[in-house]
Amino acid sequence: NTSRQEEFDVVVVGGGPAGSTLGSLVAMQGHRVLLLEKETFPRYQIGESLLPSTIHGIGRLLGVTEDLAKAGFLQKHGGTFRWGANPTPWNFTFSVSPKIAGPTSFAYQVERSKFDKILLDNAVRKGVEVRQQCSVSDVIEDDGRVVGVNYVDAAGTERQAFARYVVDASGNTSRIYKRVGGNREYSEFFRSLALFGYFENGKRLPPPSFGNILCAAFPSGWFWYIPLSDTLTSVGAVVRREDAAKIQGDPEKALHDLIDECPLIQEYLADATRVTTGQYGQIRVRKDYSYHHTTFWRPGMALVGDAACFVDPVFSSGVHLATYSGLLAARSINTVLAGRLDEQPAFDEFEVRYRREYGVFYEFLMSFYDMHVDENSYFWQAKKVTRNSHTELESFVSLVAGMTSTDFELSDAESAAMRFKERSTEFADAVDNLVSQEQHNMAPLFKSSVVRQAMREGAQVQTRAQLGEYAGAEAPIFEGGLIASTDGMFWEAPSGSR
Ligand code: FAD
Repeated sequence: NTSRQEEFDVVVVGGGPAGSTLGSLVAMQGHRVLLLEKETFPRYQIGESLLPSTIHGIGRLLGVTEDLAKAGFLQKHGGTFRWGANPTPWNFTFSVSPKIAGPTSFAYQVERSKFDKILLDNAVRKGVEVRQQCSVSDVIEDDGRVVGVNYVDAAGTERQAFARYVVDASGNTSRIYKRVGGNREYSEFFRSLALFGYFENGKRLPPPSFGNILCAAFPSGWFWYIPLSDTLTSVGAVVRREDAAKIQGDPEKALHDLIDECPLIQEYLADATRVTTGQYGQIRVRKDYSYHHTTFWRPGMALVGDAACFVDPVFSSGVHLATYSGLLAARSINTVLAGRLDEQPAFDEFEVRYRREYGVFYEFLMSFYDMHVDENSYFWQAKKVTRNSHTELESFVSLVAGMTSTDFELSDAESAAMRFKERSTEFADAVDNLVSQEQHNMAPLFKSSVVRQAMREGAQVQTRAQLGEYAGAEAPIFEGGLIASTDGMFWEAPSGSR
């Protein structure tokens, strides 16, 4: 027996970063948004190391910059890698050139329970109706279109909610993603398994790398070591899927055996104790976590975040792709609801941009794995890519760093825009410089031809968030494609194309 029929403009399924971003950006246009979340926040989630564009680009559009700054998260200025041919760890910083280092060339290492709650509370403030302990079981269709969802509310009552759009943001365990059509395709290359836990009093990198993520390759795979506070550290091993049996037997022993295989992590944890209580008390396992769905939307429905795709965690791309896809889909929905464009072009734009962002990370990550050499290891031998080029690698700079927007005074946005453009050139020069330094650890990763385009686009969200209309005109990314409106909330045809 279902209760009264409710109608909204959008129903969002899932209140993680993808769902709360999308819900907020649609509600900010005055639309009625219902967000249904299965759990009660704060809830645990993995994915703690973020990228600058999430904080300074989308965070700014959402209006959470100050909330995030006040939350006390550790600032992350880059990554430290024991990876490649070099036996000593090397650093990558978000400001590729000291000249363009600025107040936005950092991200945060976050406790996801806190971070996700900040975004969800913000969605409520922006007008989203958030209902927790509500689990969506299926979508409702009418005449080939998705028109709503069935869900069970906190009291255990089966209910329905109808909307012009249903957005699946319910993550990797989504129950409804298949209803978009197509298939979820798992990556053979990234077919891995992660085993992770939390430690108190692990060692810290010396300043200024104190807040960096540390990634260390070892024979069975690689470790992440993410400082979450002065004393708390998230530690995880990524290993072959074939090692699953070993791990499931006794995860505690398996984790310690892996730590013993990796001298750097062993050293960092020498005086540490594993947390055994609370949200961090368990050792957890995640398998087969790289996949993409073959279609991202159908009339009335779209997939965002992990419900749509996920690629290997080594470059902290998960929350970036989740929030970025939330922004792209929000633009499509806002555009159609405002009657500015038809559904097909508006959602095709979402899909093309999202797929490309995913694809660039995917390509880049394959080459990053290819870079590590260990001829005696099954794990690393399986990561040898047979192609001889490192395609699309330069985009690493924009992907990982985002554009450093430096010292904008927004009261003087026009001159800030000028300065930004000058700095963009410096940024491009800094990359050229890196490429020319053959001895630089990152040099092999910057040898592809598409650097300018990828850099410009990676920077656009952030530029627009910082400068609004002063950011200047964008170019479409494909023939006949759309561009973002100056406020970043809609799609529109480029001027002169109509
Ligand atoms: P989620 O964060 O999963 O949120 C989905 C929400 O939907 C949840 O709150 C869930 O309760 C809710 N939900 C589920 N089903 C239903 C339902 N039926 N009805 C209602 N609600 C529902 N990313 C990074 O950026 N940095 C990292 O360092 C990083 N490390 C990672 C390490 C590993 C081993 C893995 C596997 C992933 C890592 N990630 C990392 C990726 C990151 O965890 C995800 O990409 C990110 O959480 C995706 O956000 P989301 O909003 O799509 O989904």
